[in-house]
Amino acid sequence: MKRQKIVAGNWKMNKDFESGLSLASEIIPMVESEASHEVITILFPPFVHLHAIASLTASKHGIFTGGQDCSAQTEGAYTGEVSAAMLKSAGANYVLVGHSERRQYHAETNELCALKINRALEAALSPVYCVGETKEERLADAYQEVIESQLHGGLAHLDEAQMASVIIAYEPVWAIGTGLTASPEQAQEVHAIIRGWLRNHFSAQVANQTSILYGGSVNVGNAASLFGMEDIDGGLVGGASLKSRDFTEIVKANR
Ligand code: PEP
Repeated sequence: MKRQKIVAGNWKMNKDFESGLSLASEIIPMVESEASHEVITILFPPFVHLHAIASLTASKHGIFTGGQDCSAQTEGAYTGEVSAAMLKSAGANYVLVGHSERRQYHAETNELCALKINRALEAALSPVYCVGETKEERLADAYQEVIESQLHGGLAHLDEAQMASVIIAYEPVWAIGTGLTASPEQAQEVHAIIRGWLRNHFSAQVANQTSILYGGSVNVGNAASLFGMEDIDGGLVGGASLKSRDFTEIVKANR
């Protein structure tokens, strides 16, 4: 089975409502007319833009909207939280879980991520589960152990049917927003480790079917060489996803 190719844009806490809508309005027709129809494009705007942007992507082939996070709870007295079911009802199809900025600034643990993944799957959202080592962990040569423990903590409780909806993003923390990119070989090595973990923990079928995205300073210049690696099925793009032409070129580089 051919794995799904994906390029996703994580807007983080950027763009007010009006400029977010105009960014999406620029990206959507460019991607629709220029990119391969085999690639899925996902926009991850801030929550307040989500419904309006999901209305723009709703009728488009292969372009979707997702939330940058969801609550680990289902509903109730959790001020400030947004549930997976709310995201779904606002038009989202995907949700990021465990982005390193959530792990770093909001102390999110693998156990919390596992709960968020459960909520996402219950709401029929596909979770994009982010894993990646810090600079210190890479320098200590501990990245395999760190990533396998993040995979274990977040995903090991799922069954194979649930895994069919899960996407994994490898995002080395030292490469996010820093301008430092993992080389295609460094990224490929970790993607192969992730696929190996999926094979050992689940099955060859899960390993072969799960899309694994690379994230960390992906740009127009490096996207094609990263996406050309055997186990890299696309990208999770931060900074460059805020520029419509750059983001479109990155989507086009995944073919
Ligand atoms: C991200 O936020 O997921 C990311 C990879 O950011 P950047 O592309 O800016 O490094």
